[in-house]
Amino acid sequence: MIARLHDPEFSRWARQIKRAGGCRQPIHLRGKVEHYDRATGQLLHRYSTLHEPNGVLRVPCKTRRASRCPACAEVYRADTYQLIRAGLVGGKGVPETVSTHPCLFITLTAPSFGAVHTRRENNGKVLPCHARRDGGTCPHGRTMSCTERHRADDPCLGEPLCPDCYDYDGSVLFNAISPELWRRFTLALRRRFARLNGLTVKALSEYAGIAFAKVAEYQRRGVVHFHAVIRLDGPDGPHSPPPAWATADALTQAVQHAAAAVTAEVKPLSRTFRWGTQLDVRPITMNGDLTEQAVAAYIAKYATKAAECVGTLDRRIQPLDNLDALPIREHARHLIAACMRLGEHPGLAELRLTHWAHMLGFRGHFSTKSRHYSTTLGELRAAREEHMRTQEFTTGRLPLFDEDTVLVVAHWAYAGQGLSAGEQLLAAAITGRQTPHLGGPDDR
Ligand SMILES: [Zn+2]
Ligand SMILES: [Zn+2]
Ligand SMILES: [Zn+2]
Repeated sequence: MIARLHDPEFSRWARQIKRAGGCRQPIHLRGKVEHYDRATGQLLHRYSTLHEPNGVLRVPCKTRRASRCPACAEVYRADTYQLIRAGLVGGKGVPETVSTHPCLFITLTAPSFGAVHTRRENNGKVLPCHARRDGGTCPHGRTMSCTERHRADDPCLGEPLCPDCYDYDGSVLFNAISPELWRRFTLALRRRFARLNGLTVKALSEYAGIAFAKVAEYQRRGVVHFHAVIRLDGPDGPHSPPPAWATADALTQAVQHAAAAVTAEVKPLSRTFRWGTQLDVRPITMNGDLTEQAVAAYIAKYATKAAECVGTLDRRIQPLDNLDALPIREHARHLIAACMRLGEHPGLAELRLTHWAHMLGFRGHFSTKSRHYSTTLGELRAAREEHMRTQEFTTGRLPLFDEDTVLVVAHWAYAGQGLSAGEQLLAAAITGRQTPHLGGPDDR
C-alpha cells in the first residue's frame, strides 16, 4: 500500500481504479491501439499501455457473482433489472404496449430429497420446523421430527434431519437435469396452450407467441428453483398484441398442466425426475399485488447469486482438493462428494458432474430468456460502452475520427488480474466502496 501511495504514478493508477468502477479483481491488459488514415496510411493517433502505471490498463472483470466482485455484480444486477423490466413495461426497443399482454410470474420447485430443517412463517408467526407426532425414528435411529422454531440465521436450516437417509444423489442429479426439465416444460406449455385453444403448435405461432425469462435460485438445501416471467405475445413477439382468446387464465391452466406432466430421465441409473408439487403461479399487473417492478427486482437479485449462499465454494473443485479440509458446510460437502462419485460413472459423462461439483451439479445458465422477451445484456453493455467512449472523446483520451476513414489496429494481451491486499484497501477508499475482506490467492 505504501509503495503504491508513494509511486509518482499514483494519481494515474487511482484514475484507472475509478474508471474500473471499484472492481475488486480488475483484468490487466497490455497493448496498444493505433489509428491510421485509410487513404494516406498516416498514423493519426496511438495509445499504448506502455505509459500507464506498471504498463497495464485495468478494466472491470464484469463478473455476475457478488461473492467475487460486488461492484461488477451490481452492474450485472442493474442490467438484468432493466432487461426484465423492458419485457414487462417496454423500453430499450420494446414497445410500451407490451404491458397490456397477459403475463405470469411462476416458481417451479424441486421435489423433496428428504426432510430438512426449515423456517416457515404464517402471518408473521414462525411455525415449528418439522412437527410430526407420528414421525417415528428412521432406520438410523434418528427422530424424524423437529419442533423448534428456527431463527432466520440458524445454521441448521437446509440441513437434513438424517444425513444418512438424505438422497444426495437425487439432489445433484436433479440440479444436473433441471435445464432439460425446463426445456421440456416450455415445449409442453406451448403444446398445452395450443390444444386448449383448439390449435396445433404450428398453427398457434401464426396467432400468438409465448416469451420467457427465468432465473435459477439455490435453496438452502442445495437444489435449484426456477423463477420465470411468462408473457403472451402476438405473432411478431412484443411488437404485436396477442389475440383476445389468449388469456392469462388459459396460460395459467397450461402452466399447471405442463409443470405436472413433464419428466426427465437419467437413463443409466433408471431415475426419473419431475418438478416438486409446490407450484406458484401469479399474474403480474401494473398495480396489483405483484407489480412489474417487484418482479424485475426479484429476478435481478437472484441473477447475481450462485451456489455459495448454500455454503459451498465459489470456485471449481480441483483434483487435489482434500474434500474434508474445505471450509464448507457439511451438507454441501455431502452434495459435492455425490457429484464427484457420480461423475466417475461412464454413463453420466455428459452431465459433467465432477466439473460442476462446486455448483452442486447445476451447470445451466443463471438467467436466460427466449429470443423475443426483450433486449439483451450485450446490447445494454454496448450502449454503456458507447457512452464511456463519448466521455473519452471529451476528455481528450481518444481523438474524434470518423470510423469509416480510419483503420484501427489494436493489439491486446492479458497481463494478469486482481489487486494486492494494500491496493484493495486503497481502491476501496478511492471508490467509496466497502473494504473487501482480504483473502489469500484463492480469493480470486
Ligand atoms: Zn469486477
Ligand atoms: Zn428443525
Ligand atoms: Zn436415517
